[in-house]
Amino acid sequence: MKNKFNRLFHSLVIAGLLIILFSGCVEKGVSDLEWYKGNLHTHSYWSDGNDFPESIMDWYKSNGYHFIALSDHNILAEGDFWKSIPDQPVNRKAFEDYLKQYGEDWVNYREDSGRLEVKLKTFREYKPLFEEEGRFLMLQSEEITDRYEDKAIHLNASNIQQLIPPQGGESVIEILQNNINAVLDQKEKTGMPMMVHVAHPNFKYSLTAEDFAALTGERFFEVYNGHPAVHNMGDSLHISVEQMWDLINIAYMEKGQPLIFGLATDDSHHYHRKGLRWANSGRGWIMVKADKLDAESLIESMETGQFYSSTGVSLNTVTYENQLLKVTVNPDPGVEYRILFIGCRRGESFAKVLLESKGPASEFKVNKDISFVRAKVISSRAKENPNYEGEFEVAWTQPVTYSDPG
Ligand SMILES: [Zn+2]
Ligand SMILES: [Zn+2]
Repeated sequence: MKNKFNRLFHSLVIAGLLIILFSGCVEKGVSDLEWYKGNLHTHSYWSDGNDFPESIMDWYKSNGYHFIALSDHNILAEGDFWKSIPDQPVNRKAFEDYLKQYGEDWVNYREDSGRLEVKLKTFREYKPLFEEEGRFLMLQSEEITDRYEDKAIHLNASNIQQLIPPQGGESVIEILQNNINAVLDQKEKTGMPMMVHVAHPNFKYSLTAEDFAALTGERFFEVYNGHPAVHNMGDSLHISVEQMWDLINIAYMEKGQPLIFGLATDDSHHYHRKGLRWANSGRGWIMVKADKLDAESLIESMETGQFYSSTGVSLNTVTYENQLLKVTVNPDPGVEYRILFIGCRRGESFAKVLLESKGPASEFKVNKDISFVRAKVISSRAKENPNYEGEFEVAWTQPVTYSDPG
């Protein structure tokens, strides 16, 4: 009986190994995954950004990004749109540069008594200029821009297929939920990969952790936004967006809802002047670990938390295996790093630093008493063209929970 059991056990082990080997041939292993750099929040002349989509895409592509969502307010880049170019020297010069680079055959413009109008290129028109398989991808996007009284309620829908007008509602929570539902409905109806994230909660101090706690289907928000008016760090009366992140997750864990993940984005509007007053490109981005550079792979990875957000720190690896969360940095010479594991213990209603270490690598054992934990890497290097004075480069990994090994 014992021998028979042993033989059966051995055959099962061999069968198991074969399955693992075989699936290794069919599917890509973890080591085949690549990091892709992207920004899911940017504006152009299609709404209140101050440059042409082509010029913006050119900047991102030549600055090492792999994917971009150009997300204008309540509009998709389709149909005829004649943009009246502001009569400012910087806008004029940007137009001259645009015309020089793309030529008279491409640029459609008219001038009437000193007034310059340019017909903006649609998403379909400008996308083929930049997209390159495995190198650069563009996601059609919209910043659904809603409001409730004096509160700004903005949600970015990435890889959207049809325009979603602001859905409205009778309260902040209702408006958030209605807009989230509209994106999720479109995702279901079209069968296309799609995601929605809530933008800049502290812009006009519009959204609170309690608002988020009441939502369902909400998976992403901006833990960092590069616009100067969004108060990432809060003030003496308001918590920072990062503190809000943990409070939302404490509520989601209590409700048995999936954790919310944090994105860093640019929300760039201003492309001709740089500084604290301006919403410039290159301030915040995400690095997504995916097997391919396409919408489906990127969004699938993001939904499972396979990405980190950064304002300058580059991570080499982020792994969570056998209840061990490990982070290693791609260190830059002369720069020092602190790695903080921030989380919440079960039964507690606040998050705190659970472990802090110096150096470019660290790990945290996630025990049963941990509700969730995430890593934050803080660099000793001051951020170039910062969002606020005294900003240092940072990276945030996504929170993980204890998973019962059974
Ligand atoms: Zn916004
Ligand atoms: Zn925006």
